[in-house]
Amino acid sequence: MTTSAFASLPIKTELLTSIASLGYEQMTPIQAQALPVLLKRQDLLAQAKTGSGKTAAFAIGLLEKLDVQSYQTQALVLCPTRELADQVSKEIRQLAKTIANIKILTLCGGQPMSGQLASLERHPHVVVGTPGRILKHVQKGSLQFGGLETLVLDEADRMLDMGFHEDIMLILDSIPRKRQTLLFSATYPDEIRAVSDLIQHEPIEIRIEATHDNKKIKQVFYQFNKGERSKTLVALLQHYRPESSLIFCNRKQQCQELADDLWQQGFHVLALHGDLEQFERDQVLVQFSNQSSSILVATDVAARGLDIKELAAVINYDLSTDAEAHIHRIGRTGRAGNVGLALSLFLQSEQWRVDGIGKFQGKAVTIESTNSLKTRENFKLIPPMATLFINGGRKDKVRAGDILGALTASQKLQGKDIGRIDIFDKISYVAVARPLVKQALKILTEGKIKGRKFRVRKLR
Ligand code: ADP
Ligand code: MG
Repeated sequence: MTTSAFASLPIKTELLTSIASLGYEQMTPIQAQALPVLLKRQDLLAQAKTGSGKTAAFAIGLLEKLDVQSYQTQALVLCPTRELADQVSKEIRQLAKTIANIKILTLCGGQPMSGQLASLERHPHVVVGTPGRILKHVQKGSLQFGGLETLVLDEADRMLDMGFHEDIMLILDSIPRKRQTLLFSATYPDEIRAVSDLIQHEPIEIRIEATHDNKKIKQVFYQFNKGERSKTLVALLQHYRPESSLIFCNRKQQCQELADDLWQQGFHVLALHGDLEQFERDQVLVQFSNQSSSILVATDVAARGLDIKELAAVINYDLSTDAEAHIHRIGRTGRAGNVGLALSLFLQSEQWRVDGIGKFQGKAVTIESTNSLKTRENFKLIPPMATLFINGGRKDKVRAGDILGALTASQKLQGKDIGRIDIFDKISYVAVARPLVKQALKILTEGKIKGRKFRVRKLR
């Protein structure tokens, strides 16, 4: 018997039977590493890409120690969205089908409280749900966790992204300290470590590295209804709030239209397409890479050769016409050790393209409902810097040090308020912390650079 056989684990025969009936022959790598830890009732902090079999890992762990005779809720699984909670419930139910009298309940928002309250009368052994609704039941007193033994945070990174931190902490107040806490996450930002420190006890850490580039990119697809493309895009921007994003369109006319549309809605956005003059293209790239603009809308052709080190998100406003181009597009985020974000919009009629991307990348794609997006009406994505245009460059013997010197000479501005400086033959650009840009403009228009006066203006 190999160590990746489920039968090598100390688990009850009922579970082995249901595992076999699901057709799971061998443990996946995350299961092989996590299950021995789970069965010893130790805390676990696990990172593995989507589709690696995390659900069965924690489901088997929590079912193994469950006492069906008890009336208490012994396991709670928190998930970021209703879809995910439904998927997790389904998997737990399938694995538990050989265990008589077990009660598993799903509790999510967007469903009437009354039905949920009635179900809670029947004392579920396992509860799966989204943090908001679970907290509501805890506060109402309809859910009690006095006997809770296992707490699972599934897709913890996404729950934090969605702003569930506080709800989770409030739920935790009602759960005994002596418990097993399992934290699963596809990515590993600092916030995850911080939450782990707060809620876990000497967790065993497991990380399963994914192959090649995909490992640092979180990729999600959203299907939208005809006529709601730009509305859905705005919802994505409001929900994820990426500091910088590159949005792909398939046609160049569309780039400018979309940029104008987003500008109207208060976003700092620029378009990059084939109809721009070289100096316009330079100017757009300068503003985007020096953080004076949060969004760049481009076609594949226009984005060719674009090298931006820290791109928080790539958004496919239009899907690529082929899967390889798609992978190429999204490979621009998640560089330099950062976790990238790749979001794609598609129409129902483009499902086949999405499937094609899944096949090409060799793993299932994550599709989510736009209902899970938290839109914030008053939210504005404001870039940290603003750019000043200076009508003098290399040929005028202007160097970066001269511009920096001119700006900081009076001590009203400091070096840290000044960002990137780009010098071209006849013009230069300097990025200044946005709140100080008026002051910087005044200093440069009233003063001199290298003893000479230059025309200076603020770019929009
Ligand atoms: P994750 O939560 O890591 O993203 P899931 O738990 O949703 O992944 O599992 C992905 C798929 O793999 C599911 O369809 C699940 O049924 C299947 N699966 C899980 N464990 C095994 C296994 N040991 N053998 C075969 N398929 C498995
Ligand atoms: Mg999962």
